Amino acid sequence: MNLSEILTHLGEDRQHYFNAVSPPIIQTSNFVFDTLDDFRRAIKDEMNSSIYTRGNNPTVSILRKKIAALEHAEDALIFGSGVAAISAAVISQVQTGDHIICVESPYSWTHKLLTVFLKRFGVSHSFVDGTDLKAIEGAIQDNTKVLYLESPTSATFKLQDLEACAAIAKKHDLISIIDNSYSSPIYQNPIDFGIDIVVHSATKYLNGHSDVVVGVLASSKHIVRQVFEGEFMTLGGIISPQSASLVIRGLRTLELRMERSNTSAQKIIAYLEQHPKVAEIIHPFHPSFPQYELAKRQMRGAGGLFSIILRADNVEQVEIFFRRLKRFLLAVSWGGHESLVLPFCAFHGLEGKESESTTNWRLVRFYIGWEDADWLIADLESAFDAL
Ligand SMILES: *Cc1c(COP(=O)(O)O)cnc(C)c1O
Repeated sequence: MNLSEILTHLGEDRQHYFNAVSPPIIQTSNFVFDTLDDFRRAIKDEMNSSIYTRGNNPTVSILRKKIAALEHAEDALIFGSGVAAISAAVISQVQTGDHIICVESPYSWTHKLLTVFLKRFGVSHSFVDGTDLKAIEGAIQDNTKVLYLESPTSATFKLQDLEACAAIAKKHDLISIIDNSYSSPIYQNPIDFGIDIVVHSATKYLNGHSDVVVGVLASSKHIVRQVFEGEFMTLGGIISPQSASLVIRGLRTLELRMERSNTSAQKIIAYLEQHPKVAEIIHPFHPSFPQYELAKRQMRGAGGLFSIILRADNVEQVEIFFRRLKRFLLAVSWGGHESLVLPFCAFHGLEGKESESTTNWRLVRFYIGWEDADWLIADLESAFDAL
């Protein structure tokens, strides 16, 4: 389906709500029925009938349809956070005694889900170098059930070959899951490569305005129903109708926002790559990137997120650099209007944050929002001058 049609119209049955162009926020917990027959029909399919808002709400359903279409999936579910979607996806596919293969350095709370939470329930895991297909296949055990991917990862942007990973998963009867937050459906559609479940922190690009925490899961009808009847309904990590309407609003401009961030990031990278204080640019679409060819094969672009390695002799120099930045805000997350900077020296020595990226104190991650690129470059220029 056409992208504009999805973002502007899909799922919006305006004749049911006074022909309003913006869908209403159906702010209700409960729905009533005229007849016993209607009620019986509804409870046979709670996933697709509005009975109670934990299961189904018309405002949230509009978003569900759009997300499924955006990810070329048969169906989708909307959660109250990205980690709720990730946890539901993973937990739905394992039981005690099972094993999960996960790429190295996944999102920090995904790491904790495996190393702390699922371990308590007797589910084991192996972290593998996702750039090495042999390592992935070599880590498969008789009890492996899930191959968990994050491509690109969100600090050093390592890719996994999605087509090859999906083939490995199919061959060994594993369910493949990917966190697609970095690319958004604008730049990467993992289901087209044979990946089974796509999850997002929709807090990032999909909502895009830094005002809602939200997660999504997209997959086949069969898997979505399985997750709905299990983790979705029993753990109850749902989004409110109010927040769902903000995400529908956010999606209207998804394509425009991604293009803006992408174009500005390229302009800023062109400035940074010629700067003597920058040792390295880490960005999947930079020709120096080790997996540049793979990036071009499976992604249509990248958004506004990249990292640099500063040419600094000590942590103090990195600190001087980022303290001088005034227009880039010091913060986690990304995908909104505002440009951000995240110096990894902030995590240095923090317990439980011992991934390769966080111990690299010269690594600085940037997110480029929608501000004028030249105005941002001027800020970088003054910070470099202070070095
Ligand atoms: C932010 C993020 C998450 C977590 O999402 P929340 O919406 O904060 O729960 C998961 N994966 C990646 C890659 C993220 O950046």
